[in-house]
Amino acid sequence: MHTNCPHCGKRYDHQLNDAWLIVCPSCHQEITSVGIKDDKAFHMPDDWSVIQIGTTGTYKGQSFIVCGRIRFQMKYDFRNLWCARYGDKTIWIGQSLESVGYFTPPFAPYPYQFENIRAGLLIEFSDKIKLKCEMIESCLSVHYEGEIAEYPFPDARVAIIQASNTARNTVLIFTNPGGRQHFLWGELMLVYGVSFEKVRTFAEWESVK
Ligand SMILES: [Zn+2]
Repeated sequence: MHTNCPHCGKRYDHQLNDAWLIVCPSCHQEITSVGIKDDKAFHMPDDWSVIQIGTTGTYKGQSFIVCGRIRFQMKYDFRNLWCARYGDKTIWIGQSLESVGYFTPPFAPYPYQFENIRAGLLIEFSDKIKLKCEMIESCLSVHYEGEIAEYPFPDARVAIIQASNTARNTVLIFTNPGGRQHFLWGELMLVYGVSFEKVRTFAEWESVK
């Protein structure tokens, strides 16, 4: 399936079965009509991420190809949440320094309430599963690139909570000021056990020699 961008007219070939937002790669305007109000949201800041749109890899024997991302800017740091076509499904991929998280189900409402959460505390996920909070941070701004599945908080200020356990279960919980919470459930892999292809290379590093 393809669409022509309503702003610049360029052809766009669809990637995901559950696309929610598509940002035109040519003119950086919205091809879909999700109605994100921040007009800076589609101008992705540059960063040093090696994953890019078009990066491929394999998770549990099934290949994926990255087609979009959400970038969350915090006070001192940022997080990219990449969205990829994974067979006929969609997968979210989050990379930190030590690990890569693969999140296969879509965003869902988080079933438990908690208060005064901070790094180091255990949070309840189910009667049997408890996860240790590793990070809680407020986002200052959010940017979007490419094609992504539904993200529940397009115009809200959110905080992100990351928690995981020794069985490598991991959860990313997004909470807005009204207390609504949605989460992604996934699995953490060590960076050394993961390989991506068609990654970005930084020519600047070579030209310094
Ligand atoms: Zn366009």
